[in-house]
Amino acid sequence: MMSTVSFPTEVNEKSAQGGALLIQRARDFIEKVLQSGSTGEPLPTVATSKGPFSPVLVYEMLASHPESRQAILGVSPHLQRAASIAEILYALRDGDLPHPAALRGALKQKLMSPYRLDEAGAFFDLLYGALQLMVLHQGTEAALQCDELFQLAASYIYSLASIGRSDLWYQVEHFLAHAAIYATMKNSSDLWSSVVEEASVLIESWGMSAPPEGVFVHCALNLEMNCRQMPTSDLPYDLIKLLRTRVRNRRIIITEAFEVMTLTVGWRLASGLLRVLWTDVVHEYSNYERGRVTKLHEEGAGEDWAIAKKRGYCSGLGIPYVKTARPLTLANEFALSFPGGWTIGGTSIICKAGKFRILLDCGATAVGAGRVSEPDLELLDVIAISHAHQDHIGGILELYRRGYAGNWYGTRQTGILGRLTLQDTIKLHRTLYGSEAIYDDVLLETVMDRFISVDYGIEIDLDEEVSIKPFPAGHVPGSCQWQIRHCENRFVFSGDFNLRANLSDATRALEYPSQEEIDSTIGIVVEGTYAFSPERILDNFEARESLIEQIRKCGNRPVLVPVLSLGRAQEVCAALSGTEFRVGVFGLAARMTRAVSRLLSNNIVFDDRPPASIKPDDFDVLVASSGCLQGGPSKLFFENPQFKGVPVILTGHIFPGTPAKALMDRVPRVRFSAHAAAEDWQAYVSKFQRARKFVIHLPSWPNPSKLNGTDVPHRHSEYLLKPLFEEATLS
Ligand SMILES: [Zn+2]
Ligand SMILES: [Zn+2]
Repeated sequence: MMSTVSFPTEVNEKSAQGGALLIQRARDFIEKVLQSGSTGEPLPTVATSKGPFSPVLVYEMLASHPESRQAILGVSPHLQRAASIAEILYALRDGDLPHPAALRGALKQKLMSPYRLDEAGAFFDLLYGALQLMVLHQGTEAALQCDELFQLAASYIYSLASIGRSDLWYQVEHFLAHAAIYATMKNSSDLWSSVVEEASVLIESWGMSAPPEGVFVHCALNLEMNCRQMPTSDLPYDLIKLLRTRVRNRRIIITEAFEVMTLTVGWRLASGLLRVLWTDVVHEYSNYERGRVTKLHEEGAGEDWAIAKKRGYCSGLGIPYVKTARPLTLANEFALSFPGGWTIGGTSIICKAGKFRILLDCGATAVGAGRVSEPDLELLDVIAISHAHQDHIGGILELYRRGYAGNWYGTRQTGILGRLTLQDTIKLHRTLYGSEAIYDDVLLETVMDRFISVDYGIEIDLDEEVSIKPFPAGHVPGSCQWQIRHCENRFVFSGDFNLRANLSDATRALEYPSQEEIDSTIGIVVEGTYAFSPERILDNFEARESLIEQIRKCGNRPVLVPVLSLGRAQEVCAALSGTEFRVGVFGLAARMTRAVSRLLSNNIVFDDRPPASIKPDDFDVLVASSGCLQGGPSKLFFENPQFKGVPVILTGHIFPGTPAKALMDRVPRVRFSAHAAAEDWQAYVSKFQRARKFVIHLPSWPNPSKLNGTDVPHRHSEYLLKPLFEEATLS
């Protein structure tokens, strides 16, 4: 159940004058101080640096009272702080702080040390200050300059937020409230709808996936408190307050409270409010049943996307989601986020290094669910794809359709096979949507125009500090691990990987980076399909023996072997190459194998005829996609009366709800391995001794006791990988 947030109409009407009110209050304040000097009345108090009196406004207005300036500034430390903020802003405007280090120095000296602020706090001070100046100078000649200052401050905060400062939430919320005032000044009609959209763009462009409604409830409250004395609205705020008190008094547990909130206001608003208003109990939220939360989140995801789509690329506020020239991370650092989450299906990781946002893989559902969303697109610099499986590449069609214009990198085989995978996606899409289909061959050519092929082990420099380099991953033809270097430190994404030997000449065996590179690797993201599974995985040589034996055992000919087109098909063909069987290969499996396998003997025949025209005695073995008989030629053979009772040998993962699942207990199954078995996984992970380790691509949430020093990342968090420093050597 979802509910939309409606703001009380008086917020609309009254907040339109919010900025004017701020200015008026600042004026009154100056008046009062000036009067009290002559009458001896007690001085008025100043609330906070960004409260109703807006000290930066006061400071700016004091320009017209030079004689009383020092005296008034002396009234409160808030005003002195406002003076420091304004000084830094003017220095920025005049170009006196030419690079980030100079700005940081000034912040440290003038704001952080005297007022015991952290860097984020100081940057936000700056932003509020710029905002207040903007309010003051609205409609005057200085407006444009103030506008620029505001954007500048916003871009600094943006860089800060983008290096994984999840503790910035509080400030981001407050900033939004102030941005609302600005929006009021700029465009007094339609305030809330524009602010709602503005904030969703902001949050997304900051790489934070906050449910926007929560922000706006807070925004409204903030406006009420700071700007106007408005009556408490019909917002669910009171309910939340009540629940919170009960949680704190241990009358109920947070999961119950969260459930009540979810039922009352919908999942997204509930989780937004939880983050905004319950920061002290928010850590408990992560202990909430994950499956349930994920499910609820999926239900809300569509709406998020609708907002982003409506927006286009430009922010009316002019907040920078254009690429910044400033680095996103400090030298040697990486920031990771996981829009694709930790499950198998839509792998996608964003790795920030220096000035680059690198999207590693883009599985179909990562885009489908709106997780790699529009404003992010603007910010992506590079896409690196590990291999051509749908769950790793399927989403890039959507990225290019929405206007991503950068390059994507992969091995040559991934380019070849990726084209085939995407062709198949387009075909399926057309079958599903007919004339409504939005993917077509023109789009595919756009995507392929942007492909850059990289050889294993060859480093591609993105600039002087950042480079990317693929290593063989042993998973399927063309598959790679990606190593990203930032200055002296490295990060590795395993892609899907397999340590065991493959039968097909098309798949290169896994290779590790050099020891020197491994020693400077500060983080890895590793797939964990079988990492926590006790099952014994055959190696592919054993699987070959078993497959041949099973085929021989089947009295009837032909035998149908359904396969996954990429990986399994090449292994099965290699396993049967040179045997006594006449093997026909069909559909996408044939197109892919023909494209990459070079060493197959003549008994393997790629047959382009329609499956309906194949006669039972044409072949001994039919190798055909799809792997679970749910589509493609394997399904056609299986359902064709001519082939009634055809013996089937299953070879891959069996998905629930497919014909293969129903068949599973009655027919033989030979399991080839394409992913590292548990012990191999351990071996891989333990190679990278100094790295922080994340595991994704998991079939289910693993038992925490088995994680053994690896983290399962949260979709909504960003993780900062700090550089290694040389350990001091003692002699
Ligand atoms: Zn995968
Ligand atoms: Zn894969």
